[in-house]
Amino acid sequence: MTGHIFGRSTRISPPVAVAGEGCYLIDAGGKRYLDGSGGAAVSCLGHSNQRLRQALHAQLDRLAYAHTGFFTSEPAETLADRLIAKAPEGLERVYLVSGGSEAVEAAIKLARQYFVEIGQSQRHRVIARRQSYHGNTLGALAAGGNEWRRVQFGPLLVETSHIAPCYEYRDRQEGESLEAYGRRVADELETELQRLGPDSVMAFICEPVVGATSGAVPAVPGYLRRIREICDRHGVLLIFDEVMCGMGRTGHLFACDEDRVAPDMLTIAKGLGAGYQPIGALLVSGAIYDAIAQGSGFFQHGHTYMGHPMAAAAANAVLSEIEERDLLAAVRRQGELLDRSLRERLGQHPHVGDIRGRGLFRGVELVEDRGTKRPFDPALRLHARIKALAFDAGLICYPMGGTIDGRLGDHVLLAPPFIISDAEIAELVDKLAGAIDGAIAGAQ
Ligand code: PLP
Repeated sequence: MTGHIFGRSTRISPPVAVAGEGCYLIDAGGKRYLDGSGGAAVSCLGHSNQRLRQALHAQLDRLAYAHTGFFTSEPAETLADRLIAKAPEGLERVYLVSGGSEAVEAAIKLARQYFVEIGQSQRHRVIARRQSYHGNTLGALAAGGNEWRRVQFGPLLVETSHIAPCYEYRDRQEGESLEAYGRRVADELETELQRLGPDSVMAFICEPVVGATSGAVPAVPGYLRRIREICDRHGVLLIFDEVMCGMGRTGHLFACDEDRVAPDMLTIAKGLGAGYQPIGALLVSGAIYDAIAQGSGFFQHGHTYMGHPMAAAAANAVLSEIEERDLLAAVRRQGELLDRSLRERLGQHPHVGDIRGRGLFRGVELVEDRGTKRPFDPALRLHARIKALAFDAGLICYPMGGTIDGRLGDHVLLAPPFIISDAEIAELVDKLAGAIDGAIAGAQ
């Protein structure tokens, strides 16, 4: 189809999606695609959810929009209350925006304003990790460590420090325990703080389970706790970016619940609106909110569509679905089945180096050599081949090529809807295995 829309690639003309049904998307030619990655970990309820349909109709009949400079709205207030009721300890306020990058931008600006308000205006630096993606707006892009997304925008990005990721498959040394490994990489934060001068740093940001840059890589036990301790020791705010891994994706409403570590700020998006509306949120500690409330009384930020009633209504319906259908339990159960099925089918594959993740958030890393973990030559663009072959076969998955530290292999991220059935998991794994084999055969 040719038209005037300007999307991602100027070379590819994608099929027109016309309908969604459960875990499937359907194009204008009637072809069905199993949504094995929920787009980009968005469509957690699948594509034709009736509660969402009704909730959006009902909200539209009452109120579509009211600017937050004048009003709050019932769905936005309700959503904030519901999120805080379930939030990690200490998070007490919610700032509603329209997506993940906006939530991260708000977190960075709020961190800065917080320190200005409490008289520590020398703090302006952010530390993040090399293996991370925090969004595409300039502040979020600067925080992210995803080199190929950043490279041409370098002059526009504020300087951010990046430390090592927590990436056990690649970095844990022979004989090193998980705990010792977690401590070693977390302590890079301490080293970096000392290098920069701890009083100049305002925040450390990380994804508890890394999504887009490396395919569902969870932190090892103890890592996030150590990071929390280091931040506390130096008065640095800890931001967890759960835009991709939050909202039930790992089998817990917030991914960090499993690690039992609470941040000072937490971002969510994607699954919050489940694709039915664009929405993101920044959850903020009582201490940060109070500093602003008792100081200037005004967060110097904002967007026209923040706190949008339609988006909030969608998110409330998503939360109701998760609660009433016990979808967190479903994510844990089906996540285990997905993991088992991937291991049965691909665990001995000569080019599958690692299968990892939590809940319905799983990653498969491909390597040329299993013994040495040597990645495929990036010039082969194996991930792009897998994506194309899977798509031809009617499977949507999220393959990526890695260049972080020059070592990361190609990987495939899987994040299917929470309602995926056993048969659909079998179809997913079958089509993925076929695409991997076809791509490798074509690349050799
Ligand atoms: N943070 C993380 C961890 C993400 O995975 C993403 C998107 O993939 C973002 C932020 C940016 O979100 P959005 O694309 O909604 O702006």
